[in-house]
Amino acid sequence: MTLNQYIRDVQDFPKPGVMFKDITPLLGNPQAVKECMALLINNLRDKKIDKVVGAESRGFFFATLLAYELSAGFVPVRKPNKLPFDKISATYELEYGTDVLEMHIDAIKPGDRILIHDDVLATGGTAKAVCELVEQLGGIIVQCNFLMELSFLNGRKKLNGYDVYAPLVY
Ligand code: IMP
Repeated sequence: MTLNQYIRDVQDFPKPGVMFKDITPLLGNPQAVKECMALLINNLRDKKIDKVVGAESRGFFFATLLAYELSAGFVPVRKPNKLPFDKISATYELEYGTDVLEMHIDAIKPGDRILIHDDVLATGGTAKAVCELVEQLGGIIVQCNFLMELSFLNGRKKLNGYDVYAPLVY
């Protein structure tokens, strides 16, 4: 099975000129999900991950599965005003303007070993902001992993210094 066949290209979504990589066909196929999990979990079983941090919202799917498989906790990073308790925030740049991500202030303890997961690494702005949140609370980032990397957008450059892994590269 090639996992590529479960990633659907949607032209002009969410706006004209963008080719959106849609993972919903993959999510709908249990064999493909299992294969993805095997690839994502790869070398992580012996890395003593305490928490898996997932980025809203498509990052949540595999981040929770990874947390379960690694016997780690799951931490949601969300868009503004979604989390109910005290929060920290990080601002990141979009093509036009900025956006903010938030995490609960007690989600990570200093020294916790952290896996960050999102579905797609594009420009790297989202993942970099998640790294900032984790480090604000003293977490140690073991790896940033993604289902896929849009390599032509150079997201890895923004994550320089972190271990970055994505099984599917476009
Ligand atoms: P970045 O901040 O530019 O790296 O964008 C990554 C974020 O945008 C991730 O949270 C993704 O969910 C989302 N994203 C960007 N491009 C795509 C895509 O083609 N398919 C699905 N999500 C995408």
